[in-house]
Amino acid sequence: MDKEGDYESDNSRVNVFVRVRPVKGKEEKATRQAGDKSVRISVTKKSEKTFVYDRLFGEKDGQQAVYDVVGRPVIQDVLKGYNGCIMAYGQTGAGKTHSLLNMANGSAKGELNQPGLVPRIVTDLYIAMAADFMGMFTVSVAMCQIYNEQIDDLLKPKNTNLRLTMTNEKSWEVEGLSWYKCKTPEYLVSVISNGRKRLVYAETEMNKHSSRSHAVLMIKVQRHNRSDVVKKEQMEKESAQASDSEGEDCSSEAKKDVVLRGRQGILSIIDLAGSERVKKSKSSGIQFTEAKKINNSLLVLGQCVQALAFKKGHVPYRDSVLTKFLEPSLSGTARVNLLVCVAPERIHANESISTLEFAYRAMSVATSPTVNEMTVCTSPKELIADLASAASVVKLE
Ligand code: ADP
Ligand code: MG
Repeated sequence: MDKEGDYESDNSRVNVFVRVRPVKGKEEKATRQAGDKSVRISVTKKSEKTFVYDRLFGEKDGQQAVYDVVGRPVIQDVLKGYNGCIMAYGQTGAGKTHSLLNMANGSAKGELNQPGLVPRIVTDLYIAMAADFMGMFTVSVAMCQIYNEQIDDLLKPKNTNLRLTMTNEKSWEVEGLSWYKCKTPEYLVSVISNGRKRLVYAETEMNKHSSRSHAVLMIKVQRHNRSDVVKKEQMEKESAQASDSEGEDCSSEAKKDVVLRGRQGILSIIDLAGSERVKKSKSSGIQFTEAKKINNSLLVLGQCVQALAFKKGHVPYRDSVLTKFLEPSLSGTARVNLLVCVAPERIHANESISTLEFAYRAMSVATSPTVNEMTVCTSPKELIADLASAASVVKLE
């Protein structure tokens, strides 16, 4: 049996992890952990189904164990210039938001007070950047919500109904989404916490129906070689001096010689809407339209995963906003980790089985992550002003 942290990720396909949360109260359980990779679920009293994944987290596995396997490895990839995507899938109440977005600082004991993936990723990201002496980094963040096929900015509430525009053949960008530069981990955490509050606010406003919305967090990390930045800074100084003494601008030629090349990795973390089927949620009227649409986007996600798993020619990415947004990740250029959350109670068994089947299919989706090279026209001065620094994190150690 593998020990904690021994997990070796497979970059040639989507990696799938399943987390079964502890049972609520004295309810009867339908799931049983079998080793550190498989789960058994009883279909009827007499028959059981077994599913095997990259890793199975049971009720004794806390936030740290999930982070070590699902979160930590992605940080290194993003720093190298790969895009990363971590998605939580599962029915409402199965533990998606707790696993990803719990912002507690761990000052009190108990699972519910332990930080989820996101705050842990933020801390380790800044520590890793500080350890890379050859690199200079800038970090920015954006958050949005996809609800009823509409994209709304979570960091700038008046910024609603945003469009997806195509940046290249397979890549979409949310037009007009606000990005915030984050020099310190504390600032990044505070921006994310604000976005999360908006999500909770929307939840009460929408009568607890934000379990029907997808929450998207993106952290963009740009890396430049320190030596290039220093060289360009020097050249700019020299050309400024030359133009001062000659009284004319002869700097443009010299400037062209040193372009700032770098790498950019975007980590997208997505807390998907509840995957429960409409029939069960007793939706009616407007709520039903809502449920149908949300259900539609997850349905399309299922169809995309199915098409990709069976290597079908046509993948219906364009049939929902969510899948359009996910196209760059699912079409294989990003590293994708899927965290599937399962409720263990018998009353949820049917829902859990369809969740586990979706998770199993997702394991066959092939990926081949590629590095995103980029060149920027920013002047070294501007770049240096925005640099991310982990001074405060390092001091804590
Ligand atoms: P979802 O986002 O999937 O709807 P939540 O993350 O909100 O579900 O979790 C539902 C409830 O279960 C919350 O009260 C949460 O605190 C609790 N919970 C979820 N996962 C765990 C866990 N691993 N251990 C203990 N409680 C959990
Ligand atoms: Mg949730």
